[in-house]
Amino acid sequence: MSLGWKWFIEYQTPHSAHMHGIKGVIYSGRSRMQSIDIVDSCEYGKMLILDGKVQSTTRDEHFYHEALVHPTMIAHPRPERILIIGGGEGGTLREVLRHPTVKRAVMVDIDIEVVKNSKTHMPELSRGAFDDDRAELVVGDGRRFVEGCRSRFDVVIVDVTDPLEGGPAQLLYTKEFYEGIKRILGEDGIVVTQATSVYYSAYCFATIYRTVESALGRAGGYQAWIPAYDSMWGFVYGTKGPDPRVLSENEVDDRLVKRGIRDLKFYEGATHRALFTLSKELKTIIKDAAVATDRNPTFMPI
Ligand code: SAM
Repeated sequence: MSLGWKWFIEYQTPHSAHMHGIKGVIYSGRSRMQSIDIVDSCEYGKMLILDGKVQSTTRDEHFYHEALVHPTMIAHPRPERILIIGGGEGGTLREVLRHPTVKRAVMVDIDIEVVKNSKTHMPELSRGAFDDDRAELVVGDGRRFVEGCRSRFDVVIVDVTDPLEGGPAQLLYTKEFYEGIKRILGEDGIVVTQATSVYYSAYCFATIYRTVESALGRAGGYQAWIPAYDSMWGFVYGTKGPDPRVLSENEVDDRLVKRGIRDLKFYEGATHRALFTLSKELKTIIKDAAVATDRNPTFMPI
């Protein structure tokens, strides 16, 4: 009996997976960096998959992109100069540009094929962000960009693929990388990175937390449920200035109103408070975690 769809299986660990019913394939190819698939999924609409890992879907991408961008952008008093590393599909750039304080948003992605195919087949994600006068797209390795960068940024957002052994983002979760980011952050600067699943790769999340803390001195973590990832997803920030964790519900709501940011679908003051509640178990794992270095990077289980 044909179900009328096929199954795409995404592994979280060697013995745990999330099955997605797929109605059809919109694009499938391989760039110099990774495999790129854009499919029409039954549950989540269009879905971008890189090297077999779900990146964004048209149904639930706002959970991820609003959780990644707004806590640090709203915590910074005047975020004007923004660096996005990764972010190929354009959702992160779109959310950054909502802030009227932003004068320049530089996005550095290693793979122009992801940007091109996302613009063609999933324009709902960038929604014209790449055409904004404040946006500047650089095609290149984020690590190399940071090492050669002479500019200064108020907020750096690292939205690269997961730390997979041999993957293009392998060296963008190490102490040396975050020390480079610290150098290009302004005096009040904040960096935030996606930090993998706080459950299926809890140790990887905890290692990223300790690694950012070792480079920036002050760090924190938060989490949001991302349906298409079938997991509570972790985010880690390091700060030379304000700490997003201390913002009250009212302060977040007041700042959103002051900046004219109204039509968010996931993030507001009450959500902000909830994001920063990590479990006791996770805090213990963080305490005992190691620091990742170029010689000893951290990886997801699969
Ligand atoms: N939301 C996704 C997630 O949390 O896994 C990530 C979004 S985006 C699709 C990830 C982007 O990181 C891709 O476009 C990929 O090309 C880019 N990327 C991977 N390694 C990179 C590197 N070394 N420098 C710059 N961009 C990189």
